[in-house]
Amino acid sequence: MNEIAREILLKYPDETLFQNAVMDFVDSIEEHIEPDILKLLLYPERTIIFRVPWVDRHGRVQVNYGYRVQYNSALGPYKGGLRFDPSVDLDVMKFLAFEQTFKNALTGLGLGGAKGGSDFNPKDKTEMEIMMFCQSFMTELSKHIGSETDIPAGDIGVGKREIGYLFGQYKRLTNSFSPTLTGKNIEHGGALARTEATGYGLVYMVDALLDHHHDSFEDKNVVISGSGNVAIYAALKVNTLGGRVIAMSDRSGYVYKESGLDILAIQKHKESGKKLSEISDPSVRFVFELPIWNVPCDIALPCAHENEVNELHVISLIENGCKVIAEGANRPLTTEAIEEIMKSDITFIPGKAANAGGVVASGIEMRQNAQFEHFSFEHVDRLLEKSMYEIFKDLVDAAESLGERNNYLKAANYLAYKRLETSIKSLGVI
Ligand code: GLU
Repeated sequence: MNEIAREILLKYPDETLFQNAVMDFVDSIEEHIEPDILKLLLYPERTIIFRVPWVDRHGRVQVNYGYRVQYNSALGPYKGGLRFDPSVDLDVMKFLAFEQTFKNALTGLGLGGAKGGSDFNPKDKTEMEIMMFCQSFMTELSKHIGSETDIPAGDIGVGKREIGYLFGQYKRLTNSFSPTLTGKNIEHGGALARTEATGYGLVYMVDALLDHHHDSFEDKNVVISGSGNVAIYAALKVNTLGGRVIAMSDRSGYVYKESGLDILAIQKHKESGKKLSEISDPSVRFVFELPIWNVPCDIALPCAHENEVNELHVISLIENGCKVIAEGANRPLTTEAIEEIMKSDITFIPGKAANAGGVVASGIEMRQNAQFEHFSFEHVDRLLEKSMYEIFKDLVDAAESLGERNNYLKAANYLAYKRLETSIKSLGVI
């Protein structure tokens, strides 16, 4: 293990997600990393932890933890989503903020990296409780963000509804209509296609990869884990490009249909709050006891959550002829799973690059707000597609310059690191 990384990470032995993300990064490009820069990169610039008190529907006081990890601002103001989920703790936040820093660097947008959120679970709450919570959360967070300092967005558990309440409270507290959040509703300056962007962007990047190999999505069987925003819009885009989504999952299990799933029907079903296990269509098979990665496919797109794909899943994908894995979620593959891929001939695109579509669309929203403009859905979609193709082209060039064609993991880490390194050096030790 790299000595500097070991020394720093050993101070926080419980932060395993953060440690794994850092070690995978360091291991992949160790020979290119300067020790002093690594030291700076392994400490978040600022970590904010606060309590979020609120009153529930029974009139009882509840308290959650709130977090914002402002990881690195060498390239621009901090930028990254807010996650409301019971699994949120400091480790999750640091790991996601670390990943976001590199992801944002790859977009070339001039954005630093951050992540925030709370262990609050919006799933079992009333509308009123969610609003109360968001207002209390923002009352503290507002002291630390700003359109030139830190611009949060959504993530798991934080969609347009939550962003609306958060933005409302921010506007009230600061007495300004400052575009300090992205993922806003259209009426408040949100960008069309922001909701679709991460899923669409993922598929655009895979399309760029296929195109690079004179291939396309036509007739490819695709397996997508998850059935939230990223998964659903990725699936819809796969279908548009001529592919066939044969399996999708949620916490209850996975659905499978050899001739291709009806994604719009799944989207409607999930939006009504039901589980995939409750789908009544007799042509769709529901499987709950086996991993979705046992389903033979050409392309696998993990779009659910971190660490959902382990080495056994990868072995099964390889045995069943899968050729491409691209991460729609943030780091859904474990370290061991990535090691298996590196031994195989599967082409792998890490989430840092493959799921950058969300932040690319956030960048478009920021541009739109700065220009007091409203872009059409088609315009945002075209800009998104162009950006994802460009990021992929940068990866191809970086992989070639490293003499490791097709190693997009190394290419992504190297490219993001180099952009950060150049900026960190010129800013001095700050
Ligand atoms: N949460 C998203 C991500 O993981 C979006 C971040 C943003 O738009 O700032 O990239």
